[in-house]
Amino acid sequence: MSDKKLRILPLGGLGEVGKNMMAYEYGKNILIVDTGIMFPENDMLGIDYIIPDFNYLMDKIDWVRGIVITHGHEDHVGAINHVLEHINAPIYATPLTRGLVEVKLRRGGTLDKAQLNTVRAGDEVNIGPFRVEFFHVCHSIPDGVGLGITTPAGLVVHSGDYKFDHTPVDSWPTDYAKLSELAGRGVLALLADSTNADRAGWTASERVIDDAFRDVFDTAPGRIIIASFASLISRMQQVGNAALQHDRKLAFVGMSMVENAKMARNLGYLDLPDDLVVPLDQALRMNPSRVVLMCTGTQGEPTSIMGRLSMGTNRQFDIMEGDTIVLSSHPIPGNEESVYRTINRLFSRGADVIYEAIAPVHVSGHASQEEMKLLLHLVRPKYFIPIHGELRHLKQHAHIARQVGIPDENICVIQNGRVVEFESGEMRVGERIPGGYVFVDGAGVGDIGPSVVREREALARDGFVLVNLTLDQNTSNLLEEPEIITRGFIYKRDGENLLEHTRELVKKAISSGNGGKGEDLEQTIKTFLYNKTKRRPMVFVTLSHS
Ligand SMILES: [Zn+2]
Ligand SMILES: [Zn+2]
Repeated sequence: MSDKKLRILPLGGLGEVGKNMMAYEYGKNILIVDTGIMFPENDMLGIDYIIPDFNYLMDKIDWVRGIVITHGHEDHVGAINHVLEHINAPIYATPLTRGLVEVKLRRGGTLDKAQLNTVRAGDEVNIGPFRVEFFHVCHSIPDGVGLGITTPAGLVVHSGDYKFDHTPVDSWPTDYAKLSELAGRGVLALLADSTNADRAGWTASERVIDDAFRDVFDTAPGRIIIASFASLISRMQQVGNAALQHDRKLAFVGMSMVENAKMARNLGYLDLPDDLVVPLDQALRMNPSRVVLMCTGTQGEPTSIMGRLSMGTNRQFDIMEGDTIVLSSHPIPGNEESVYRTINRLFSRGADVIYEAIAPVHVSGHASQEEMKLLLHLVRPKYFIPIHGELRHLKQHAHIARQVGIPDENICVIQNGRVVEFESGEMRVGERIPGGYVFVDGAGVGDIGPSVVREREALARDGFVLVNLTLDQNTSNLLEEPEIITRGFIYKRDGENLLEHTRELVKKAISSGNGGKGEDLEQTIKTFLYNKTKRRPMVFVTLSHS
């Protein structure tokens, strides 16, 4: 019966880039893999970030046996506080990932009650009926793992984010031997990262960045300011190495950079001599040609250090003539505009700016097509489910799997909320469960739905029209001329005519007895304005009786 089935429940990350969260269910047991967030797209106004919809788990909280985090990136761990608020299951993570999780839990005030367990690549842990084997994978953050999950229904391999870098910065390649050992036991299903499924060839090794950095350090006349993600520990190592070779001191700027660097050094994932690293205020007093600063803000976020530097509003220091800025990152899809705006502003303040398009100062942490084929060959799964990516990435990954010989009927392209079941060695697509967006803005979680975002979009695009009506409380006739106020909708001088017509429309509606209900009148005005202008401002009618 149903308790002999393995159910795979994609709660996030399938059909989008970000907020990765997967649940594996067998009988009354659930294993959660990753609890990520997603950054909002340009058109989601006022949203800080988005977390997975894990409503499906809410009446099965007691079934959750554990939460495994594959690595420390926000799209895999960012929602951990939100999940822990409801589900206090043991968390399993490698030392560096655990360190990053702890920083988050401390800020969220949930560290005390969290049950944290350290695991290492090579370890095996029983979590309910699931035996989880952790194997090392290369990625743009150290200490990432993929998972071999032995379930009563068969062995599943979950890749996590990975690439096959033969010369990673930490000299720790992906564990090929473990992958083929798992294959030798017979893998029922492979779930693998699809982020770069549309990139041909191989992803370059992180080592190519060393050469690009050397060029920058050889020629930079003044300060070097390098922007990256605070979780890119291996990039910190590369900057540190270059600084050491060029006799510069390194300062980390901003709380998350400073905290993560400190934690990674304590755990031994970042190897920097003590006299290389100096506090920011000391670095600012030194000869500019002897200094490297490392900060966040590669996505053009206005509140980040790089964002503030570009606008001249940073508190501790400003851009000066002779600065060389390196954006060691790739714009997250949707952020391109703000990234390029930031670059232009930095140039206009006198800095030289070097970014991915003009020098190899960044490489991807994700496998390209040839690496995806290698993984499929190493693991030799019976069934294949592409994960982590927009539908186009998932479809492309499915195409790659067909190319290496996985039969079409054994490949399952699904998006968030679509369950896949395995029973007696056979796969079938199951029911739909919730798998949408939960929006988080400064105020709270989930109290804004998509309709609020749509309203903000409408306001930003077409503005609003406010119609104030004063009616006689006995006759419901207009006592005064309708007052019409607009913002962000039309330029006043051009609009007088249109507003006059609107006023006539309102008066006519009231005198024919259609003004009694504000909502109907709002709809009438909306339609009228749309027909005249092809725009859809928000329309509000207020009625007061006297
Ligand atoms: Zn990642
Ligand atoms: Zn990821």
